[in-house]
Amino acid sequence: MTDFKNLDEARQRVKELRGLIEYHSNAYYNADAPEIEDDEYDALMRELRELEAAFPDLRDENSPTVKVGGAASTKFAAVTHEVPMQSLQDVFDLAEVREFCEKFPGAEFVVEKKIDGLSVSLEYTDGVLTRGSTRGDGRTGEDITENLLTIAGIPHKIPTDAAFVEIRGEVYMPRQTFAALNASQEENGLKTFKNPRNAAAGSLRQKDAAITAARGLAIFVFNIQQTKGISFTTHSESLAFLRDCGFQASPDFRVCHNFEEVAAAIEAIGEERGGLSYDTDGAVVKLNDLRQREEAGVTSKFPKWAVAFKYPPEQKETVLRDIEVTVGRTGVLTPTGVFDPVLLAGTSVSRASLHNQDYITQKDIRIGDTVVLRKAGEIIPEVVSVARHGDGQPYVLPEVCPSCGEKVFRLEDEAALRCVNPECPAQLLRNMIHFASRDAMDIEGMGPAVIEQLIAKGWVHSPADLYTLTEEQIASLDRMGQKSARNLVNATEASKSNPLWRLIFALGIRHIGETASRQLAVQFGSMKALMQAVPADFAAIDGFGEIMAESVCDYFSTSHARELVERLTALGVNMEKKEDEGSAPASQALAGLTFVITGTLEGMTRDEAKALIVAQGGKVSGSVSKKTAYLLAGENGGSKLTKAQELGVRVISLERLREMIAQGENG
Ligand code: NAD
Repeated sequence: MTDFKNLDEARQRVKELRGLIEYHSNAYYNADAPEIEDDEYDALMRELRELEAAFPDLRDENSPTVKVGGAASTKFAAVTHEVPMQSLQDVFDLAEVREFCEKFPGAEFVVEKKIDGLSVSLEYTDGVLTRGSTRGDGRTGEDITENLLTIAGIPHKIPTDAAFVEIRGEVYMPRQTFAALNASQEENGLKTFKNPRNAAAGSLRQKDAAITAARGLAIFVFNIQQTKGISFTTHSESLAFLRDCGFQASPDFRVCHNFEEVAAAIEAIGEERGGLSYDTDGAVVKLNDLRQREEAGVTSKFPKWAVAFKYPPEQKETVLRDIEVTVGRTGVLTPTGVFDPVLLAGTSVSRASLHNQDYITQKDIRIGDTVVLRKAGEIIPEVVSVARHGDGQPYVLPEVCPSCGEKVFRLEDEAALRCVNPECPAQLLRNMIHFASRDAMDIEGMGPAVIEQLIAKGWVHSPADLYTLTEEQIASLDRMGQKSARNLVNATEASKSNPLWRLIFALGIRHIGETASRQLAVQFGSMKALMQAVPADFAAIDGFGEIMAESVCDYFSTSHARELVERLTALGVNMEKKEDEGSAPASQALAGLTFVITGTLEGMTRDEAKALIVAQGGKVSGSVSKKTAYLLAGENGGSKLTKAQELGVRVISLERLREMIAQGENG
């Protein structure tokens, strides 16, 4: 990788790498929403390290190779770490571990699992937990004492006479807890977490400690940072002390006497890690003798007395037996590969998403092929490549929808194939749920479970049918009494007089979110005027591009849409702008700033984020340009993110946006 011929070329690449690493560190440490896999991030860091070694002129004291990643947010009070909370030097093969061991002839080493969680410091004064904090940038962390006190594995008092003990540990989320949390987040329509590490970080850095308490976090401690009134000579002795204090202290650590024993311990952890109840991302090798540690010293980023061995992601070959295609709730056709089951990172895997036609074509995946599977982030199975073709033909997704049999389309600028039949049963459900949802027509009680039953009974074929249901019909549904049936009919009736923008949004027109719906209501004043609009009529609306304008016109050009509006009008649903629609925003904290939103935001839909920005006087646009002040990015940012980086547009997290609003910041 260091095959750059001259300094200028290398300087260019170093700059690029530092920018990328900084960007991904921010997503990982501060937004708890990484966009790339850890091994990809590690590869960037390794390339930068190699370049800086080959071209010493390019070294910089602010380079991510010499600084601890992360930063303390302003959400919590700052804590200065008297003993810096450092990172660890990564190594990727046993030869590097040997090199490390050989620096300390005759020394004892301790090999421990490297738990994938969030580093914290716990300070005990006279045996009582007085303060707990995050690592932050290693020197300044965040005071999260309240949150840490809710974790069952953290004793509030420890049995010691020592005046002061600072302990370092890793807060993590057990795999089962993670699976249950994601299932519940999904059920409640909230954002799911990418992996247990991010779930742990997101759960711990909460303003409301009650949320942390409910998340089932655990802790494992692995170091004593500093003490007053007690001392130890070896690391293993300090771990025994921590265990006596009631902690889970580096479980199953091994004391080794030479490289061979260290290598065997690393291999043993490697074999065991898939079956553990928590994620590990490596093994840590440390000098056992604390005096030797002192002598070895530290760099600005890590101790010289330890290394972290990183295991390569596990990959296995298996045969692709079938490709199943399902229609998602937005009409998107999703192909799923069905494989002979293989054991991967601790679980049996037999299915993986193949995403879309482009993905299948690029990798030339065919039924009958032997493919290489791995788990992205050790969680989500994915096909890495085809190892060998079988005798199958290149795979092409069906031309008709597997749910309704209608022809499917590939829309411009989309990788996915879509079924656009508005009556497709798979989509009807989704449309109805959206129509009644809180952000749209806000019909309280008309949730997915009720709508599913209404469709199954054949009572509703369109959102308009919701307004024809009787109390008796609703009362006959599962888990529905007479009183709730009456309430639901009343709520449905009440939604008829909603402001116009709610109805526009409820129609589910592609590319038209809540903000755009509000703008359309203000601009056109009535559904009738909106239906008659031509693309040129949208030019005056701020932030409205061609795609949005065409999407509205296309939607109303279908007989389905016109009939729906006609029926809704006949049923008495409001079709006119109300007086207070488009009234002035609540505050001006974001006035004059244009935002673009990308990716999945935690705990908020993109449309909710839009509404939040607009309510604070900001604008939201669909595409990144030089005029964009900020890109609000969540998980899986994609092309907008790349564009923002190219143009030097600042990228912020939802957390940062909230801070800007709270501080009334503008600029
Ligand atoms: P690190 O996580 O590799 O190592 C240091 C940390 O290990 C310490 O903070 C400590 O809390 C923890 N640890 C766990 N068990 C331990 C034990 N037994 N002994 C000692 N320490 C133990 O270093 P880092 O600088 O925090 O982060 C780098 C890691 O974060 C890499 O794995 C990298 O891939 C990942 N990362 C990923 C992205 C991404 O975008 N995917 C971005 C930034 C960082």
